[in-house]
Amino acid sequence: MEALLAALRDAAKLCRLVQERYLSAETKTAGDHSEPVTIADYGSQAIICRALQQQYPDDAVVAEESSAQFTQLVSAEQRAQILALLSQVMRQDLSEADLLTWLDFGAGRAAARTWVIDPIDGTKGFLARRHYAIACGLLLEGQVAEGIVAAPGYDDGAGAMFYTRNGATFRAPLAAGAGTRVTVSSRSKPEEIIAAQSYERAHASKSRMSRTRELAGLGGARLLELDSMEKYALVACGDADLYMRLPREGSRYAHKIWDHAAGVALVQAAGGTVTDLDGSPLDFSQGETLPNPGMIISNGAHHQRVVEAVGRVMAE
Ligand code: AMP
Ligand code: MG
Repeated sequence: MEALLAALRDAAKLCRLVQERYLSAETKTAGDHSEPVTIADYGSQAIICRALQQQYPDDAVVAEESSAQFTQLVSAEQRAQILALLSQVMRQDLSEADLLTWLDFGAGRAAARTWVIDPIDGTKGFLARRHYAIACGLLLEGQVAEGIVAAPGYDDGAGAMFYTRNGATFRAPLAAGAGTRVTVSSRSKPEEIIAAQSYERAHASKSRMSRTRELAGLGGARLLELDSMEKYALVACGDADLYMRLPREGSRYAHKIWDHAAGVALVQAAGGTVTDLDGSPLDFSQGETLPNPGMIISNGAHHQRVVEAVGRVMAE
């Protein structure tokens, strides 16, 4: 896992360089859903996949981006930009062929170990210079086992690396250095609860989540709105106590495993609880998408009460 931590640190460096020099986005479309993608998404994925190829050549990978999409969407000028930045960060001369090979490493394979990668989670936050994350999770036989999340916006932009090891969760400085163990908070007084949720309105129903907090007796909770899997990390290290993701009315959005696997690992190893809206476990064994319509993540204190409140809100 050391090599992977180093790869996520390099990926975070690359993302910051892209933000400083070349911030722009293309639009990618899947079905009736479109989302922005930047050259940093491809660069970050290439760095992580190269480390996986070196450490775990026979493993399977499910990652958000692909070489086919890169070839279709990225202009010649942007290709030159990302290759120059990658060569700088990885301290070696790279070709476009290297980049294309790494992007697809492990794709379409079946193996006992599957790495699940979101090279930039919260691309909208990345573009708007808010929060984003770089995430690598590990599934063993379809179950979440380990997670690494780089959160460059953590602590007012100081940044942090969160990762699991030997069944515990750790937080380390983003650039370098050893981690210290973190656990979920022990806060349970309703007026002390800190709730995190998506910044983007389109990603979850803010009205349903607000109504749920009211019904669960947590109407006085302090609210943090931020993009990306950093929300899982906040619950894991005790900076937040509750994170809900309730679908908007009529939404048929299918959640992607790369948006959750690493975060779920962080919270579980830190002693927290992650469930579907009805209190059952999330199901990572069904391929790229989760069959679960939403998520409730918490320090455990009010979990059952929140599940019951969500049930009432979703039936309204
Ligand atoms: P967050 O900032 O926590 O909302 O998470 C960002 C992630 O939300 C992105 O990686 C997207 O894959 C995902 N996302 C995009 N559109 C939707 C949607 N309509 N509903 C739920 N999640 C979405
Ligand atoms: Mg994402």
